[in-house]
Amino acid sequence: TTPNIVLNVNGIEVIYNHVILVLKGVSLNVPEGKIAAVLGGNGAGKTTTLRAISNLLKAERGEVTKGSIELRGDRIENLTPADLVNRGVVQVMEGRHCFAHLTIEENLLTGSYTRTDKGEIAANLEKVYNYFPRLKTRRTSQAAYTSGGEQQMCAIGRALMTNPSVMLLDEPSMGLAPQIVEEVFEIVKDLNTKEKVTFLLAEQNTNMALRYADYGYIMESGRIVMDGAAADLRNNEDVKEFYLGMG
Ligand code: ATP
Repeated sequence: TTPNIVLNVNGIEVIYNHVILVLKGVSLNVPEGKIAAVLGGNGAGKTTTLRAISNLLKAERGEVTKGSIELRGDRIENLTPADLVNRGVVQVMEGRHCFAHLTIEENLLTGSYTRTDKGEIAANLEKVYNYFPRLKTRRTSQAAYTSGGEQQMCAIGRALMTNPSVMLLDEPSMGLAPQIVEEVFEIVKDLNTKEKVTFLLAEQNTNMALRYADYGYIMESGRIVMDGAAADLRNNEDVKEFYLGMG
């Protein structure tokens, strides 16, 4: 049986500052309950693709000028990031973006701003601590004094506080030691399996991403140049030669 498509990106073009054409017709599908990865080098357009989906382009003076984006069959290009969170789509931005002066727990609680039910918020917090035991031990530490790995976990944990069905994860491995990257990816896999969160991640670390993803899209200069099941991409000679050394 083929799984349902949660996100369908169809031929999108993105222009920054009215003139810089960055995405030149990108199409991809994210199947329900799977982990899909957008791969490729610096500047290929991975972040822009994620921002287009979660409607975070405006702040960067970017806009989708062609194509369509659908969430379970509904067009979403005109929804705000907050609307999308309410519909279960949340983005974890590159560079982690924790509030440096807040504690880990306060950071996590900023993810529940849309909710008022105290019991539900407490249950969500417990869920996050269950997946990220490291965050529990660091709950009263100021984010600024925690490690890069803990900050990445905090950013994912905060997104998890919104009860998402789809998480867009931008470059989770960035700046982290290999062992920590592995720890983060193991948790992503866990969330995928147990919480049924569907993931679309952007990664330069092709090797690691293809070990955990079900499906991969390789981007170059604003286009998808190759796609396939992760296992097939891992064994593909071109992928091995050009991408697997990266990250
Ligand atoms: P990275 O891993 O470095 O983030 P990426 O694959 O995510 O790379 P993007 O960040 O999407 O790539 O950038 C794609 C292209 O768009 C790059 O050439 C970049 O310089 C350009 N770009 C990104 N943001 C802007 C912006 N706000 N204004 C103008 N150009 C931009």
